[in-house]
Amino acid sequence: MTVKDIAPSDRLIFALDVADADTARRLVERLDDAVTFYKLGLELAMSGDYFGLLESLVGQGKNVFADLKFYDIPATVGRAVRNLSGRGITFITVHGDRAIMEAAAENKGDVKVLAVTVLTSIDKNGLEAMGYSGAVKDLVLKRGQLAKNAGCDGLIASGQDAKMLRDHLGDDVLIVTPGIRPEATGSNDDQKRIVTAEQAFRDGADHIVVGRPIREAEDPHAAAVSFQETITGLFAG
Ligand code: C5P
Repeated sequence: MTVKDIAPSDRLIFALDVADADTARRLVERLDDAVTFYKLGLELAMSGDYFGLLESLVGQGKNVFADLKFYDIPATVGRAVRNLSGRGITFITVHGDRAIMEAAAENKGDVKVLAVTVLTSIDKNGLEAMGYSGAVKDLVLKRGQLAKNAGCDGLIASGQDAKMLRDHLGDDVLIVTPGIRPEATGSNDDQKRIVTAEQAFRDGADHIVVGRPIREAEDPHAAAVSFQETITGLFAG
């Protein structure tokens, strides 16, 4: 496990994948102190009041990950990233194109830029359709190296790729891993490349992103507390 100066509770990032800001606020209230880090994605951004919600989370002392996965010409991405700095946001995401990542890194101000190497929804067939002939893992590693060289702070990496990226890129790159399930087997939702929280951290993740296992739990607060207990157990002492 990589030991960085990260508060254990901040290692859990909850994906606030809900339809609108009011629903998000109710869930945040329910989760209370069990969640200190929230990921606000495209669904919320398109529902209105994204920045109102973001500011209220920052005002409550929460960490915010603005997961908008920018992909546009570098000048536009650079200006968009600049508009997100100075708002108390901790992480933002961009896609793993070299010029885009460089523009984001140059304009990041006080936010940390995470690069998406290859979306987990894209498999070998999908890559071939886009004109890439190699293996998905090779492209993930190549883009991971490009991200580091471009000045990005870290990567979004599936549990399957975290170890390879950590081994090749070293400890100073942040690795943020989605696709977490309480148990590695028995999931019946659409997440295919799943790992447990424990496995993700042992493979070098710095943070995990968890959505449905908390959101769809009978008691979301209890589910979040259970993840926090696992994290405390792993990083204590
Ligand atoms: O699957 P779960 O609900 O825990 O997903 C949480 C977050 O992980 C989502 O907001 C999504 O952005 C991300 N995710 C991903 N790759 C997937 C599925 C989800 O990066 N295959």
